[in-house]
Amino acid sequence: AYFVGSQPVNLTFQLGIIDVSLPDSAENALYRGYLAMQEAIRKGSNQAVFFDDLLEEQIQRDRDLEDALPSALENNEFSLHYQPKVDANGQCCGAEALLRWHHGDQGLISPAIFIPLAERSGFMPKLGAWVINEACAFLGRLREQNNHLPGRLSVNVSPWQLREETLPSTLQSALQATAIPAPQIEIELTESALVDSLVTARKQLQAIRELGVSIAVDDFGTGYSSLAYLQDLPLDVLKIDKQFVDNLDSTRGQQLVEGIINIGTVLDMTVVAEGIEDRTQLSALCALGCQYFQGYLFSKPLPEEAFGEWLRKNLQTPLTTS
Ligand code: C2E
Ligand code: MG
Ligand code: MG
Repeated sequence: AYFVGSQPVNLTFQLGIIDVSLPDSAENALYRGYLAMQEAIRKGSNQAVFFDDLLEEQIQRDRDLEDALPSALENNEFSLHYQPKVDANGQCCGAEALLRWHHGDQGLISPAIFIPLAERSGFMPKLGAWVINEACAFLGRLREQNNHLPGRLSVNVSPWQLREETLPSTLQSALQATAIPAPQIEIELTESALVDSLVTARKQLQAIRELGVSIAVDDFGTGYSSLAYLQDLPLDVLKIDKQFVDNLDSTRGQQLVEGIINIGTVLDMTVVAEGIEDRTQLSALCALGCQYFQGYLFSKPLPEEAFGEWLRKNLQTPLTTS
């Protein structure tokens, strides 16, 4: 039996498929078909998914995690790790805050797993607000320790936070509560988040810009979206995705990255390359005119204390980039 979901806007389809020859109640069969279709929708355009035991287990695991999100927030199971960004002189020029879930039974869970669950369950705005407050509070703690992050601390923002229309006020109250100047904070949005709801996005991004917070496009070039938003929206930073950095060993890969750097430069945006793991990639990026970098080559995302130490050390002795 087939369960067909379709999206009339872009004419894609999703199929959920079950084997109805197996003994089962009609209700169960319908429900399983529906679950398979949901999974196909989650996977994206033109997908067909067969229902099987593995899928059922996966769905149950996701449900359990999803249900545990609110209590995890109350029990302080979330924390932020910080990954430095460096300039061509090897000096720190900012950092990105990355969310971590220290689950009681399952250990550290990747944001790639739990962010989609928080989004689909409607918990993302609450979790996202916690991230913004915690990022500002962290800058406050650095200040108390006479430590200093040059540049801006960027915070990832989900499309769901943009749709809620409370993002500017959440940012404003977090900045006020911690007395952190707005230019020390940046938000990172993926291009699909920007294009998803262009009208709402524009209004909110303008309000965020008026606060003095800057806006970065994360994973640039990976979102199957139109470039028109670059013209329409108030954006400050383009982040070149790791996928492009990984392909710098081919001429076409280099040409593509050069093109992205040119787009950023002519639009007066800062271009940051992310996911740099080795010196060959760094040299290739420098030769193409990229000036800001982030990746394991410089540092993995670090817990608060380790990041503070990294920062003090870097202020005294910058990393070598050549
Ligand atoms: P992102 O914002 O594109 O973050 C970059 C990801 O690449 C991070 O993964 C980082 O740890 C990883 N990374 C950085 N340098 C390297 C490298 O040299 N090599 C490799 N292999 N990986 C590198 P992470 O921390 O697992 O986060 C994954 C994604 O989860 C993020 O991608 C972001 O989209 C999302 N995310 C993380 N924290 C938050 C958050 O607070 N809110 C929202 N909405 N999303 C978040
Ligand atoms: Mg990011
Ligand atoms: Mg990224």
